[in-house]
Amino acid sequence: MELDSLYQEVILDHYRKPAHKALQPNPTNQVHHINPACGDEVTLNLHMDGQKIVDVSWDGVGCSISQASTSIMTDLMIGKDVDSAMKVLNEFTELMQSKGSLKGDEEILDDAVALAGVSKFPARIKCALLGWMAFKDAVSQSQSGN
Ligand code: ZN
Repeated sequence: MELDSLYQEVILDHYRKPAHKALQPNPTNQVHHINPACGDEVTLNLHMDGQKIVDVSWDGVGCSISQASTSIMTDLMIGKDVDSAMKVLNEFTELMQSKGSLKGDEEILDDAVALAGVSKFPARIKCALLGWMAFKDAVSQSQSGN
């Protein structure tokens, strides 16, 4: 796959120095998601205070796209309330489904726009979405009181 070189650098940077990659104890919810097609795995710990996402920490193995995307996601979500976090998540999901037609709104997605090129490669979209779907699952569990 070919990605813009600047974007490639952002992804590699997150892959080499992942943000919040150390599971924090006593999470409100913990989820484990896998992407068998590529062998990516993410365990995610979510700490909530009411509607506020206090912390998102994770551990995982897999390709650079899956690991970098999870790292980028944690940076974006920590400190947000559930409503704004879901807006960011929907924006990213839309970007991933755009087949390369969208560039992504940097105001909303920050470093995640670096993953825009992934949407041209159907096999890799699940890699990019893995951590985000894990996050969505954890938040929805926290909302239903599980
Ligand atoms: Zn992958």
